[in-house]
Amino acid sequence: MSVNQQAHAGPPYGQPQPGYQGYQQPAYGAQSLPGVPRAQYGAYNGPMPEYQQPGPPQGSLRAPPTSGAPPPASGASHPSGHLAYSQFEHGDVQNGIPASAAPMQRPPASQPFLPGSGSTPVSQPSAFQQYGPPPASVQQLSNHMAGMTIGTATASAPPPAGLGYGPPTSVPPVSGSFSSPGSGLYTPYSATQGPPPTSVPQGLPVAQPPFPGQTVSTQRLPTQVPGFAPPPPSTGVGPSSYPPTTGAPRPPAMPGPPLPGQTLAGPPSSQPNHVTSPPPPAALAGLHPGPPMSGLHGPPPPTHPPQPGYQMQQNGSFGQVRGPQPNYGGAYPGTPNYGSPPGPPPPPKRLDPDSIPSPIQVIEDDRSNRGSEPFVTGVRGQVPPLVTTNFLVKDQGNASPRYIRCTSYNIPCTSDMAKQSQVPLAAVIKPLATLPPEETLPYLVDHGESGPVRCNRCKAYMCPFMQFIEGGRRFQCCFCSCVTEVPPHYFQHLDHTGKRVDFYDRPELSLGSYEFLATVEYCKNNKFPSPPAFIFMIDVSYNAVKSGLVRLICEELKSLLDYLPREGNMEESAIRVGFVTYNKVLHFYNVKSSLAQPQMMVVSDVADMFVPLLDGFLVNVNESRTVITSLLDQIPEMFADTRETETVFAPVIQAGLEALKAAECAGKLFIFHTSLPIAEAPGKLKNRDDRKLINTDKEKTLFQPQTSFYNNLAKDCVAQGCCVDLFLFPNQYLDVATLGVVPYQTGGSIYKYAYFQLETDQDRFLNDLRRDVQKEVGFDAVMRVRTSTGIRATDFFGAFYMSNTTDVEMAGLDCDKTITVEFKHDDKLSEDSGALLQCALLYTSCAGQRRLRIHNLSLNCCTQLADLYRNCETDTLINYLAKYAYRGVLSSPVKTVRDALINQCAQILACYRKNCASPSSAGQLILPECMKLLPVYLNCVLKSDVLQPGPEVTTDDRAYIRQLVTSMDVAETNVFFYPRLLPLTKADVDSDSLPAAIRNSEERLSKGDIYLLENGLNIFVWVGVSVQQGLIQNLFGVSSFGQISNTLSALPVLENPFSKKVRSIVDMLQGQRSRYMKLIIVKQEDKLEMLFKHFLVEDKSLSGGASYVDFLCHMHKEIRQLLS
Ligand SMILES: [Zn+2]
Repeated sequence: MSVNQQAHAGPPYGQPQPGYQGYQQPAYGAQSLPGVPRAQYGAYNGPMPEYQQPGPPQGSLRAPPTSGAPPPASGASHPSGHLAYSQFEHGDVQNGIPASAAPMQRPPASQPFLPGSGSTPVSQPSAFQQYGPPPASVQQLSNHMAGMTIGTATASAPPPAGLGYGPPTSVPPVSGSFSSPGSGLYTPYSATQGPPPTSVPQGLPVAQPPFPGQTVSTQRLPTQVPGFAPPPPSTGVGPSSYPPTTGAPRPPAMPGPPLPGQTLAGPPSSQPNHVTSPPPPAALAGLHPGPPMSGLHGPPPPTHPPQPGYQMQQNGSFGQVRGPQPNYGGAYPGTPNYGSPPGPPPPPKRLDPDSIPSPIQVIEDDRSNRGSEPFVTGVRGQVPPLVTTNFLVKDQGNASPRYIRCTSYNIPCTSDMAKQSQVPLAAVIKPLATLPPEETLPYLVDHGESGPVRCNRCKAYMCPFMQFIEGGRRFQCCFCSCVTEVPPHYFQHLDHTGKRVDFYDRPELSLGSYEFLATVEYCKNNKFPSPPAFIFMIDVSYNAVKSGLVRLICEELKSLLDYLPREGNMEESAIRVGFVTYNKVLHFYNVKSSLAQPQMMVVSDVADMFVPLLDGFLVNVNESRTVITSLLDQIPEMFADTRETETVFAPVIQAGLEALKAAECAGKLFIFHTSLPIAEAPGKLKNRDDRKLINTDKEKTLFQPQTSFYNNLAKDCVAQGCCVDLFLFPNQYLDVATLGVVPYQTGGSIYKYAYFQLETDQDRFLNDLRRDVQKEVGFDAVMRVRTSTGIRATDFFGAFYMSNTTDVEMAGLDCDKTITVEFKHDDKLSEDSGALLQCALLYTSCAGQRRLRIHNLSLNCCTQLADLYRNCETDTLINYLAKYAYRGVLSSPVKTVRDALINQCAQILACYRKNCASPSSAGQLILPECMKLLPVYLNCVLKSDVLQPGPEVTTDDRAYIRQLVTSMDVAETNVFFYPRLLPLTKADVDSDSLPAAIRNSEERLSKGDIYLLENGLNIFVWVGVSVQQGLIQNLFGVSSFGQISNTLSALPVLENPFSKKVRSIVDMLQGQRSRYMKLIIVKQEDKLEMLFKHFLVEDKSLSGGASYVDFLCHMHKEIRQLLS
């Protein structure tokens, strides 16, 4: 019986309205675009399709086309879509190949899995007969299972929608997340305070800070790092023009000894690293009286001056910690007056962290400057707000930055300029990105049987930049300049400006992003696709059973299956499901709705995998609910006493692949796996973990697969549209580098839960699983990026497969995956025409509809390097550089990769200095305003686990992170490399806002406070030793610091404002990330603190990573060497 199922009144595929009802986004049907034409278009023998060989248009099969799908009326009946579904209207018939055509001639080499059951089968023997006579063992197994109890209705009742399964809110409101004032920890330096350097690291020539009070730069102007030198007194235009300075003399270079930590700045306290919060300015002023000009010790008032751009900062905590520092009074820098009046030479000073560019400040400035207005995409080459800013997007002809972000929005006209600058030209593309509910999803345009209008030569799709000429009868391609006839059905008159009069009625003429319904020519074998299938493949070896994992997965699936992705207004998901369990052998299950009990078929011949049944393996959830529930109840019992510890892996993927092939559909395998596959089988692996290889030339082998077998398997999977998502539960090394090959190349995801324990890890795993199953995904996807003449896409980074140099193939592409594309010049560009990108993604929706999603973006081009540097986006640059480096470790020693990264960034900054900044002393470090965070972020990439592992980082961790980062979007790499650190004790319990973030350094922590740090994978809650007992009681429900358990995986639910506030912050952060983050409680001075400190990325790391200050000095040296 159907459990808790609501009756579905409508025919399952009757009204395939376009849209994505299934996950997180409003359906297309719910939107309306004023004026979207509903007119029908005549037949059009248009441009040839790109992805498949052209076939005759199946005109008779397609009803009159509608266009502009959004209007409810036109979308109500979708003829072509209906065609795609119509062949699957009869339940089990949809299982693909008819019996007579079944390719599998071999009988299943089955063997009994559980001996002892001997009665006759209860189910139709015919299910087996088409593949040959069933072995006796199969029948025995069937009988065995038939004798098991059927799950009760209550056991499989789905939870109420919205509780756990509802679409998570993707982008919770974050406005003001960082903006609430009140923390003096990082407030910008005010005009009367000058941060003094305290020592000079590494003997680098470092000039003295600018004269207190001067504004160093304005937005888009270069940033001068005060610790290095004062701003040049010059004024001028362009990037080299500073606001007039107060004429601070340029100090001489001051070499100094190596950075000795805090020799000068050290506080008297025995805990230099755990400073207390800054007292209010008044108190500080009292502590550190000094000449008004110095004002060096007190933090500024907790307000933000409205000046844009980087300002010198003074950090309150430093003011306090360095209380006993020598008096910095005296006119600075004319007479560096450290402690005593003029006379002795200045002691070595350290670059003050508060005087160097602060990520927090940049984030905050962008938030306050750009967070309030929508980002309207009508203007070419606009740099969008930062990913950390909460903003709305209005599509007026260019793709939203949620879909595409670029390293620069103004690219050099010539290859020589590009080479000179060394700034990589790259776009980070997230074709199926989730949008906030306030924004409009791409409209679905249906041109009927003629398909989308395209350029005759380069096959670019109709877009806002195509130029209509000759009264609208032809159009000139904006990418290749070729002139193409406008098909008769698409003809429209032009207005006096040359614009088509239906410009605003057609998404493809007026918007940056939209979709086309694909015609049959865009489908494999010229056949509309079947709806995809999900196959759940569960490791039932000893470890998986013993940890409770098998039972957990089965219990979860019983309800989760009700939440498979649905399209538009469809009542139920079109996705069919199948089940496999495995250890050394594979067990397939027949869950056909007509069976009283599920049947198991065992395949022990794993050397040549095949699927022992077709009919009954992939089923509709609602139709087979009773059988499925029964199966999921029985699986944990069947394997409860297993002693089998060995597993296979490749045959599992092969089995799923074969099943999809047989069903002639694309789909996704969800594989839950626990161990290194050492059982005799194809793809068998050996333990080759060897940490001794770290820092040797052979280190790269740790990232490479140990056999090419999986590469070939991945290729086969992509050809079939078989995407693999892998959930790993290792207790030891299991070679993620090799097991991850197929998930990676098929566009799938890997999740890893080391030392999985039910108690602490089940929430995280279940949340990940729920999201992974429910999220929007396109199948059998091909992406191509076209560019206007002058540049072309040359390199690609991400989880995909490429069989040629232009098409990115993904068996599955979900809403979280990005592809980073690099561009190179192949000709000159012009400032007038700019440069254009068009990303076209052909994919199959979750209901089996073939679609094209198009994103267009126009960029400016420049003949002046300064324009390039003014329009860069460092977050995107870092995304590209990290991916570039993480791929580099596959083929080069890690040190080589690191050096190359540093060198490239030094060249980028040196080129700026040489060509864009006004002349100044070599001792100055001058950074372009848009890249002033490049050094700090680059350092974070360099000291990341992949490029510089600490002792606690396993080989599998590194391989896992390497693959993970490769698919990350810009927001994810941003927080991954520079985690977000929030002082929880500063949170306003009465407001929705987050406490203001602080910089990632131990010096910023106060032992009297509690902090939260998140990086997209983990959330740490750090508790200082001196936190008030009341706060501890409120947050943890215990009476003292000592009683706080650091094994908690969630904060206790307590009824007080502080607990509620902190838990709501945690929930909000969890909702923002694509993976459920692991919560780790860290007590100050506890051993877990080492792990936490690893994420304080401005500090020196245990693995040898430089501190921000040291790295900045190092970069400065590199730049100087390049310039000299
Ligand atoms: Zn063209």
